[in-house]
Amino acid sequence: MASTDWKLTFGARAADLPSTPYVGRHFIDGKWRDSGDSQTMARRSPAHDALVGQYAKGTADDARDAVVAARQAFDDGRWSRLSGKQRHDYLCQVAERIERDHETIAVQEVLESGKPITQARAEVSGAAALWRYAATLAWNVRGDSYNALGDDMLGLVMREPIGVVSIITPWNFPFIIAAQKLPFALAAGCTVALKPSELTSGTTVMLAGLLDEVGLPDGVVNVVLGEGDPVGAVLTHSDDVDMVSFTGSTQVGKEAVAASAGTLKKVSLELGGKNPQVIFPDADLEAAADAVVFGVYFNGGQCCNSSSRLLVHRDIAEEFTQRVVELSRQVPFGDPLDSQARVGAIISEAHERKIQGYVEQAVTQGATLRLGGRALQAPNGEGRYFEPTVVSGVSPDMEIARDEVFGPVLSALTFDTLDEAISITNDCLYGLSAGIWSRSIDNCLAYARRARAGTVWVNTWMDGYPELPFGGFKQSGLGRELGHFGLDEFTEQKTVQLHMGARTNWWVPQA
Ligand code: NDP
Repeated sequence: MASTDWKLTFGARAADLPSTPYVGRHFIDGKWRDSGDSQTMARRSPAHDALVGQYAKGTADDARDAVVAARQAFDDGRWSRLSGKQRHDYLCQVAERIERDHETIAVQEVLESGKPITQARAEVSGAAALWRYAATLAWNVRGDSYNALGDDMLGLVMREPIGVVSIITPWNFPFIIAAQKLPFALAAGCTVALKPSELTSGTTVMLAGLLDEVGLPDGVVNVVLGEGDPVGAVLTHSDDVDMVSFTGSTQVGKEAVAASAGTLKKVSLELGGKNPQVIFPDADLEAAADAVVFGVYFNGGQCCNSSSRLLVHRDIAEEFTQRVVELSRQVPFGDPLDSQARVGAIISEAHERKIQGYVEQAVTQGATLRLGGRALQAPNGEGRYFEPTVVSGVSPDMEIARDEVFGPVLSALTFDTLDEAISITNDCLYGLSAGIWSRSIDNCLAYARRARAGTVWVNTWMDGYPELPFGGFKQSGLGRELGHFGLDEFTEQKTVQLHMGARTNWWVPQA
């Protein structure tokens, strides 16, 4: 193994560890309630091993109640028949309260996910911006008209809310992923049953508290806590659900599609990725190295957009990989409550073992471990971390180059030509995002056109804007979030044909 002397950052904490855990219950039909069988589940912080959350653990009946409440709220029009302005005003009030409670939400997100506090703060701000952006869309639900169908006919294409939406979110970005879905569904006029990951329920409960506070009509948003089975399963199977909006692993995404097949409900999926950054010799190599380090260590690599594949041109492969190794040594890993930390803890022990397994397997298969490669514990024995890890000499057929490792582990591969870089990029189950670094417009544009990925970053990595759609090709997903497209996903199109004047009788034989 390459590294044995890694030092974690443990500076002043932005907040004290809580003396009592945050307690969360289901929010169903406008009421807070325990699970039918009174079961609860506990969450300990991955970075401190402290009890930070205590949540109702939903039963199938709790999940059904959430769906029934959303169904009733949709069918009686208490939300869908409000004007766009009224919906806009509610969503803006939620954004204001997110901004007001910004620090409390950020700290809970850190405690449950292990991500650094500076990153959590940015995500909470980003979430508030998404609520505001979606609010403007509520005012802009619009269709199309056809005015040249003949004097006696006007064609209208209207967008209506799709109905009841089940939203299921993962543990790595619980608050901002909910913001990529929920306000867009609400802007469209849908009602919702929402299940966060059992590992990071807290900030979604806080969000439900804000929805309650702004007086959202009962049943419009129902939050039901608990595990994938039974809660997620009810949300994907139920006859009363019109659409499932799921973010998580490709494996569970496929299960969601299978579960929804019985009722042919619409499914939108944001799934995994195995995203490459391609580096040409003519690039700004300093900027590229920084982006590679950012791309792979952000959120400890536990990120669908992690750039876990480095594709570097053979002429600069050694020099560039060494530059990345040197930079990696400087990235502050450590207590996520320390605002100096750039990278925090790993979500669970089982996940840590999985990351370690990929690194060990790659070395057995002939790859070279250049940096890191081991799980780490804080000196006081609390918390789980994984060293920043760089593995070079990786070939495209190795598991570490093909699977979503979901840890701070970079696999370095080489290429000789643009065609080869594109071929390696596309030889992958996933197609979420990809990036190219070059000063040649020909290289950049050819790559952007031919990479089979939902987002291509050119001389940058992982920027995101509410206006720009996000989603994946291939097994990275179905559909798009954000932008106008994000609103449209939560609508059905209806065609209305309006006839004017006298009708030409069908039964009269025509000459
Ligand atoms: P999982 O797929 O394990 O879980 C996602 C959610 O699905 C959780 O709330 C989980 O519940 C729930 N779930 C589990 N089983 C079922 C089921 N049978 N029916 C319905 N719901 C179920 O993903 P992770 O939480 O581990 O998140 C990591 C994954 O998410 C990675 O693959 C990552 O790439 C992907 N992701 C994709 C993003 C994108 O935008 N493309 C963004 C962020 C993450 P519970 O865990 O409580 O049991």
